Amino acid sequence: MKKAAAVIVAIVLAALAAFVVYDATLNKTVSESFFAMNTIVSAEVTGVSAKEDCTEIEKIVSRLDTETLSRTAEGSEIFRLNKNGGGEIGEKTAEYFSLLIDVCEKSGGAFDFTLGGVSDLWKFGSNPEIPDENALANALLHSGYKKVFLDGNTVSVSDLLVIDFGAAGKGIALDEIKNHLEASKAKRAVVAVGGSVLLYGEGEFTVGIRNPEGNSGSYLAKLKTDACCVSTSGSYEQSFEKNGRIYHHILDPKTGYPADNEVLSVTVVSDSGLLSDALSTACFVLGVEKGFELAEEYGARAVFVTKDKKIIARNNIEDIIEITNEDYTLVIQ
Ligand code: ADP
Ligand code: MG
Repeated sequence: MKKAAAVIVAIVLAALAAFVVYDATLNKTVSESFFAMNTIVSAEVTGVSAKEDCTEIEKIVSRLDTETLSRTAEGSEIFRLNKNGGGEIGEKTAEYFSLLIDVCEKSGGAFDFTLGGVSDLWKFGSNPEIPDENALANALLHSGYKKVFLDGNTVSVSDLLVIDFGAAGKGIALDEIKNHLEASKAKRAVVAVGGSVLLYGEGEFTVGIRNPEGNSGSYLAKLKTDACCVSTSGSYEQSFEKNGRIYHHILDPKTGYPADNEVLSVTVVSDSGLLSDALSTACFVLGVEKGFELAEEYGARAVFVTKDKKIIARNNIEDIIEITNEDYTLVIQ
């Protein structure tokens, strides 16, 4: 018996050793970056099929953009809805609609994915300018998420309303990438689609909160987290100055003008990419107090950077945040 037990132990040890060698030789880390969804996408994947995963990530983001979310790519689902005043959409897209309608409702309309006509007038991304007041009032009149109806896989939209998933599309991309990584059994990955980041797999991750007043490589704070999605909405992303005032691309659906409150940026941590992205935009418009309430309704965590150089968070983030810029003060509310 003793001999049999020893043989079993030896076999198990040999199997373990074989596994370790197998693991050490076949897991690779591959990085790549490319341009899609009007932003830079960078991916670092560790796993046995890391190279194929990177290739697939590029396909996922490009496909999602051109076949579903883009407002300008003819043939995308959103393009067709806007052109035809509604129509049939795929099951996954219907699910995104349903989740985003919920964010519109729960945010009291601070998040509104029907502002396409209004943001077009601001021309962010080309030659931004303050729109003509009448044109803005007219575009605002035709927008409003309450004018969108979802019935199963059918969307109907009132005339002249322009659907724009720009505030959630990068997060949706993260969710689709995460599904792929789960299926391909990747070990670990960090994928950034603009200001939305997927932290996937084992171990701890560190993600920076950008200094809204500094250049793109300058950070105010670090968050140490497990796997999750982290999105930041900041007025610094797209803005212009006119007559001493800064105008940016996150709009208050009530006025059609850039949201104007104490906030410079909001970072939201959630298991869902769609929610982290949509909520960061919503919280920006809502401001600190109402923003925290909304994030918490979704079980998400938020960090606000404000104009008076504060980093405001709730105690659900105290353990994972480290301030790295001494001009800013951490306030736990
Ligand atoms: P970024 O695109 O820089 O990641 P956001 O995720 O905050 O930033 O999305 C901002 C984009 O969403 C704008 O460029 C515009 O297309 C759209 N948008 C602007 N204001 C709102 C709003 N209140 N609700 C929903 N979408 C908005
Ligand atoms: Mg967003």
